[in-house]
Amino acid sequence: MTVARIDVVVVGSGSAALCAGIAARQAGAEVVMVEAADADMAGGNSKYTAGAMRFAYDGADDLLPLLADPEDPRLAATDFGSYTTDQFAADLLGFNDSRPLSPEQQALITDSLPTMRWLSDNGVKFEPIYSRQSFEKGGRHVFWGGLTLAAAGEGAGLVDAERQVFESMGGTIRYRSAVSGLVTDDERVVGVEIDGDDGPEVMMAGAVVLACGGFEADREQRVEHLGPQWAAAKVRGTPHNTGVGLRLALAAGAEPYGLYKGCHATPMDLQMPDYGNLDLPHLERKNYRKICYFLGIMVNAEGHRFVDEGRDFRNYTYAQFGAAVLGQPGQFAWQLFDAKVEHLLYEEYRFHDAHYVEAASIDELLPLLDGVDGTAAGATIAAYNRAVDQQQPFDPTIKDGKATIGLPLPKSNWAQTIDTPPFRAYPVTGGITFTYGGLRVDDAGTVLRPDGSGIAGLHACGELVGGVFFAGYPGGSGLTSGAVFGRRAGSGAARSAGWS
Ligand SMILES: Cc1cc2nc3c(=O)[nH]c(=O)nc-3n(C[C@H](O)[C@H](O)[C@H](O)COP(=O)(O)OP(=O)(O)OC[C@H]3O[C@@H](n4cnc5c(N)ncnc54)[C@H](O)[C@@H]3O)c2cc1C
Repeated sequence: MTVARIDVVVVGSGSAALCAGIAARQAGAEVVMVEAADADMAGGNSKYTAGAMRFAYDGADDLLPLLADPEDPRLAATDFGSYTTDQFAADLLGFNDSRPLSPEQQALITDSLPTMRWLSDNGVKFEPIYSRQSFEKGGRHVFWGGLTLAAAGEGAGLVDAERQVFESMGGTIRYRSAVSGLVTDDERVVGVEIDGDDGPEVMMAGAVVLACGGFEADREQRVEHLGPQWAAAKVRGTPHNTGVGLRLALAAGAEPYGLYKGCHATPMDLQMPDYGNLDLPHLERKNYRKICYFLGIMVNAEGHRFVDEGRDFRNYTYAQFGAAVLGQPGQFAWQLFDAKVEHLLYEEYRFHDAHYVEAASIDELLPLLDGVDGTAAGATIAAYNRAVDQQQPFDPTIKDGKATIGLPLPKSNWAQTIDTPPFRAYPVTGGITFTYGGLRVDDAGTVLRPDGSGIAGLHACGELVGGVFFAGYPGGSGLTSGAVFGRRAGSGAARSAGWS
């Protein structure tokens, strides 16, 4: 069956797709979104997020107009600081392995605040992330790490708000409609092939926006691009991001662009389901993550530490440490904490389905660490405790320099002795969040060929855009990237379809 020509077809219904849809509707185009999942599972990885969005801002004056509740009484006692474009650039450069800022990273930085304002002007509102990005100091809420706001209602709230805006503007979404092919005429993309409930279908379009995620949920492509240890990775989000958009664009002549062997992956509860769990209430979905390692230490099966848990604020390490855990023997590790830091552990450690063991002494804890050489782990903890610098005060709001002294693998900040019962240990593995390799796009989101020419009628955004992340990721940049490149691709697609 062939459906009459639509101006713009957007593939996917995550945040990048919705931003593209809103921007295309604002330009006047008729927009249909086609989503592989059913309505419950729609919204992609975006719906699994905590909704945190990183953007450059000069101070509270830039933030207050974006807030859902500008009358929140805590605001008077809050220090947001600033996060300049230079800081955002420095944070991205810190993960670039000596690469200069890519054009995509420059676009992400420059467009980050304008895109947050655009979302807010359209009715998508935000909240300060008091629970995870601030600590109380001198009676004030002090934010750290440059990441201050999340969408009201977290990821599910973001997707709901964006969907409502899109639909109120006349956009429509078709669920259970997986795109399986592109229709081309000469060298122009003129539609999509869909596998839907009623069988195969062709939807003709003035322009197509691919916003259907990376290949993180496809085991074969993970192994091909990331390596064999990624076969066993848990998938933190949707099972639907299987790299179809990427494959179709590459088959249409697109340039593979960005770091295909790179991905975002974090320590996750070893016992979590293989995929993110949308059956949980949305505020609980992120809770299989376990990223408070900076308050304790991690040991592998051999009983050894394997990363500097306090190398930097966890915003700058959590996306890399999932791979570090997957690289350990047996692909697991245990996170160890004592009672001194219990109150600082995130909610995810108190989650009803958090798995952990607890004991009144280290000696009693060691045999409970399944799969771990207890003797070696005991020696590791003892050596760590002896090496902690007792002169330096502990302060989780700053990189406090409270380090170990003399260990071959240091803990550079927040190193406190593990000595106060009860002791707790959490088993973790690596969970893949999303992949970094993608497509090259121009300012209008047009997908480019290796010779730099654009594939007419084909646009892309979100996880499909390469060149944005390399060796790592400052937390909260993925949703912003989706919004920035989604907005561009939507406007560009509307222009491709004849709307200016
Ligand atoms: C658990 C978790 C927590 C995260 N937390 C944060 C955070 O707090 N802040 C942040 O910035 N980033 C976070 N991220 C990363 C963030 O989710 C992504 O960077 C961003 O949401 C990507 O948006 P997207 O629209 O490109 O992809 P998605 O939101 O994944 O949307 C892709 C959509 O395409 C659909 N699709 C796939 N294939 C097809 C097909 N063939 N046909 C039709 N539809 C298809 C999928 O079903 C899905 O709905 C998190 C990710 C996860 C998994």
